[in-house]
Amino acid sequence: MPKKIAIVEDEAELAALIEYNLERHGYESQILGGSKGTMRALEQAKPDLILLDVMLPDVDGFELCRQIRQSAVLARTPVLFLTARSDEVDRVLGLEIGGDDYMTKPFSPRELMARVKAHLRREEMDAEPPSAVIGPFRLDRTARRVFLGEREISLTATEFNLLEHFLAHPGRAYSRDQLLEAVWGESRNVTPRTVDVHVRRLREQIEEQPDNPRYLTTVRGFGYRFEEAV
Ligand code: CA
Repeated sequence: MPKKIAIVEDEAELAALIEYNLERHGYESQILGGSKGTMRALEQAKPDLILLDVMLPDVDGFELCRQIRQSAVLARTPVLFLTARSDEVDRVLGLEIGGDDYMTKPFSPRELMARVKAHLRREEMDAEPPSAVIGPFRLDRTARRVFLGEREISLTATEFNLLEHFLAHPGRAYSRDQLLEAVWGESRNVTPRTVDVHVRRLREQIEEQPDNPRYLTTVRGFGYRFEEAV
């Protein structure tokens, strides 16, 4: 899947130039003009990286960055400031309020691409450690294998993704819709029933008594939870 990059920039020519270069390098991009609706548009787009101009018509780029860092959806998304202002105060302020990097206009497309690539790579490396131990479960993300005690559990790709999601958030209850969003993402041809089917299959693999689950329990009238104290 191509990485999605949001370009929050009101100078149309510059935005188009950045978009052209990003797409040439295989990224998906979306230009947002930096109006009052930009924050909502960003939360809907859930980009992998945000290029953020400081001087915007209706909002201040620094203020927008503050909101991004407080957003449940975007808090961890790298923000790279684009600005004509180059003095040290702005640079420091931008980084203090949660920006990850700073590019002063004019910059070359090549330099921008290099920074974008570096930040996306760092994000990937920070995102998930390659393996995790949760109770009796051991998850190897690189090899996509799961062990329960000494026994390897055989899972389909979707079952693996679902179990990985539960193991990453033990003790937290998820509705079927939340699980669809987290595990199936953009796929359109799935319904909340799909979740039940996969949970049942998963239980058959990991539970001694699938009808009386110990790890993956039902939260009545809501959804499912992976028990914390396993
Ligand atoms: Ca501007």
